[in-house]
Amino acid sequence: MAERGKQTVRDLRRGSRSTLLHRLYFEGPLSRQELGRISGLSGGSVSNVVGELIADGLVEECGSVDSDGGRPRILLQVTPDRAHLIGVDVGETQVRVALFDLALTELAASDHPLSDHGHDVDHVVELMLTGITEVLERTGVDRATVLGVGIGVPGIVEQGEPDSDGYGVVVHSQTVGWDAVPLGRLLRAGTDLPLYVDNGAKTLGQAEMWFGAGQGARHAVVALFGSGVGACVIADGSRFRGATSSAGEWGHTKVHVGGRLCRCGSKGCLEAYVGAEALVERWGAAPPGSSEKEGLAALLAAAEAGDPAAEALLAEAAEYLGAAIADLVNLFNPERIVIGGWAGLLLGPRLLPGIEAAATEYALRFPRAQTTITLGRLGPDAVTVGAATLPLTHFLTSGGELRRLTPA
Ligand SMILES: [Zn+2]
Repeated sequence: MAERGKQTVRDLRRGSRSTLLHRLYFEGPLSRQELGRISGLSGGSVSNVVGELIADGLVEECGSVDSDGGRPRILLQVTPDRAHLIGVDVGETQVRVALFDLALTELAASDHPLSDHGHDVDHVVELMLTGITEVLERTGVDRATVLGVGIGVPGIVEQGEPDSDGYGVVVHSQTVGWDAVPLGRLLRAGTDLPLYVDNGAKTLGQAEMWFGAGQGARHAVVALFGSGVGACVIADGSRFRGATSSAGEWGHTKVHVGGRLCRCGSKGCLEAYVGAEALVERWGAAPPGSSEKEGLAALLAAAEAGDPAAEALLAEAAEYLGAAIADLVNLFNPERIVIGGWAGLLLGPRLLPGIEAAATEYALRFPRAQTTITLGRLGPDAVTVGAATLPLTHFLTSGGELRRLTPA
């Protein structure tokens, strides 16, 4: 009984620390008085827990504001440089590794292009490990202060055993030929940092919901439009995962029965019509030897210059995307749909009016009228930021757990 009582007190304290860290992280700087008001904790508890967080170096004072006639109120914030986070975007055209402080300010990044669309797993793992070493060396940040490495990958992520620090993660990515790849085990051979892996579209979704175009929405879909197409469905504030985390494979919904062959092996998928790879391939006029990004930029430039074939292809892409968004509207009744990803942001300004018109034409009128469609706000590297939110989430939820910072 005594043991259980102790556990409960510890859990409560951890819960209070977590509550205050969340509030300070997302709404700070805040005074102790404001923290008490919005957290529902008593003034005494706030004062004790804040004292503890300050002693741990997790929270710091950062100025003061005048209060009505009373003493100025000290403002508090989460200490940005107390710990660090690494975010990795395993895209199909590059591996990007970035080092962030706790405020998610990017301190360094390392980009390695992929020529084979990421098919060679060992090569991808090697680039990730190289990138981690590079960003740490470049900044001189002590690896003992890194809370973990968040990784966004294409495909479906099986998490394995909880608390295994990512060791059990297995990735299934039909489009790049990753068949039950034991990514956790492969990475563990090269680093002992805690690993947090999720689908790239889901990490992008988390980033846009926390800091970007999704802020304030409870029901949303964040679409990742790059080489392939994916989505993160947010239902009542939480990411919808499905039975085995594969929910949101929007790119493989059918837009044409019996249509174009998709990289997943099926036919008529959205991705086979509007994914960047498909668009460049269907256009067929990209300068020889150009990368996918250069090819897509050339397609856009041709359309802007009035090339009829390029204009028609992009107009059709907008209609496909709008129709596929109409499906999201009818299925999930979101209040907001955010289009992100490097291709989405590149083509978005040109395609958005066509996408909106097609969504209106194909969706049911009532839910469509409740939905706004907007472009992502965090730029083409938002997957890296989203990946870094994975260890950050663990940190905030655990009440600021730093045990991993102390070398054994
Ligand atoms: Zn497909």
